[in-house]
Amino acid sequence: MTVETRTMNCITCPMGCEMTVTVENGVVTKVVGNTCPRGKKYAEIEVTAPKRMLTSTVKINGGVLPLLPVVSQSPLPKESILDCAKELRKIIVEAPIVAGQVICGNILGLGVNIVASRDLPKVQ
Ligand code: SF4
Repeated sequence: MTVETRTMNCITCPMGCEMTVTVENGVVTKVVGNTCPRGKKYAEIEVTAPKRMLTSTVKINGGVLPLLPVVSQSPLPKESILDCAKELRKIIVEAPIVAGQVICGNILGLGVNIVASRDLPKVQ
């Protein structure tokens, strides 16, 4: 049996609880330091299939800024983040853009949309 102890911070909310997580044969068996049950859930996902939100920018033509901030609508598998960022570098959108507009649907077939995180009007 393999038993290890990991220290991690829950990033689910701004509290950022520091947790001590016991993992036995790849399964979380004990979590200490979480203030609420979401911390245990975060630890279980972090150990088995870690995910991260992706925030980035894409090029925009005709906008008041040269780059449009974008964000994933939900967390993506951590190991796919770099590939997703590369995919976003290929995209050029046209102004105007409204916050929440889908910029890249179902990125890399992962079932997550990348959306604009702000309005970006057309340059006058
Ligand atoms: S354990 Fe709960 S309170 Fe602590 S950071 Fe995670 S979500 Fe926030």
